[in-house]
Amino acid sequence: MATISFSPKDQYNAFITTLNEAESGPGALSGIPVAVKDNISTRGIPTTCGSRILEGYVPPYDAHVVTLLKKAGAAIVGKSNMDEFGMGTTTENSAFGPTKNPADPSRVPGGSSGGSAAAVASGMVRMALGTDTGGSIRCPAAFCGIVGHKPTYGRVSRYGLIAYANSLEQIGPMARSVSDISLLMEVLTKYDPRDSTAVDCHYSHTPDPEIRGLKIGVPEEFFGEGVDPRVASAVWDGITLLERKGAEIVTCRMPSMAYALAAYYVTCTSEASSNLARFDGVRYGPPADTKLPWHEAFQQRRQSGFGTEVKRRIMLGTFALSSGYYGKYYAKAQAARQQVRNDFLHLFRTVDVIAGPTMPTVAFRLGEKTDPLSMYLSDILTVPANLAGIPSISVPCGKSEGLPVGLQIMGPHFRDERVIDVAYAFEQGVSR
Ligand code: GLN
Repeated sequence: MATISFSPKDQYNAFITTLNEAESGPGALSGIPVAVKDNISTRGIPTTCGSRILEGYVPPYDAHVVTLLKKAGAAIVGKSNMDEFGMGTTTENSAFGPTKNPADPSRVPGGSSGGSAAAVASGMVRMALGTDTGGSIRCPAAFCGIVGHKPTYGRVSRYGLIAYANSLEQIGPMARSVSDISLLMEVLTKYDPRDSTAVDCHYSHTPDPEIRGLKIGVPEEFFGEGVDPRVASAVWDGITLLERKGAEIVTCRMPSMAYALAAYYVTCTSEASSNLARFDGVRYGPPADTKLPWHEAFQQRRQSGFGTEVKRRIMLGTFALSSGYYGKYYAKAQAARQQVRNDFLHLFRTVDVIAGPTMPTVAFRLGEKTDPLSMYLSDILTVPANLAGIPSISVPCGKSEGLPVGLQIMGPHFRDERVIDVAYAFEQGVSR
């Protein structure tokens, strides 16, 4: 065991908690400093979910992924900043203040794993864990100019992840290179029976940049309304690079994109309203008036413990699930979700991967987006992969207005190896 000291000047507010000294053992990640998003339980280290409602909470156990990191010798040096409970696209919804984008500190780093992305992009750590419910690994990776991978649903155990929307979310790796993503995937995919949705499908793979003959589908909808033409052109340049390396580019359609965002927001708010019901503020959270009748005490504690966006989503989700509306909203959302899945399955009969931009724009200015709907709209290109449960990676793909752009590559279920290979081929092509 070696002790690694860690006392960065955290000028981007990437961390909620830093450990001045971290243990590192032998293994594949020996001596490597890793940041862990603050919704992943770490024994003996506060885990806040970016919320005041968990003030004073110190988990008595490690998430499965944390156990795996430790076994691989990694030095967990801190818990990274995030949108409260993962609800957001900018990391501005953190009770601990926003994180800034190292590529331009007047901009947001993306969210919700913005702290992890900023910690990696600024070089404070080599790798980080994020979670992705509707884009929260890929969006900040794109905005900060790093690589982020959302694994196939079920490939990484969620045991010890504080849930936001269980049916959509996965824990995944963030790093500056595709080979580091691959290395982390190897560590994170060890089967765990404590997550009933986990599948025993270990990733053991060395990235292979040979993509000759590979068919890449490009859905027209990924370049539709709302996608900044400058971002679109950077991504097309990237796709052309893949073509030069021998891939075949096929344009295609994804009609269910018209419903994807609505299906996502009904599903995630419904699951959130149920998940977040457990936070009563009794053991943890801001101090409250103990003389109040019990129901008023809960009300006061939840009122002061949760931020605005979290409260908005609890209310939306409770409404969507309520009797009389369930069929109109939740059931419809599940039907639309099935269509998204069917569209992907259909496309993967003829193409090997699907490519497009990760985000429709570059990173926003801090404070620029105040209207929740316009914020939600920016998730349009990332939520389809979560609805379908397929693997999806974002890899840096040039710049627009001097800011990083992400190329997104999606693949069939359990073909994480394939999307990582394409990202690797792309990265090699760019650096030549
Ligand atoms: N921006 C999306 C949301 O707010 C995605 C968040 C996430 O993946 N955790 O729900």
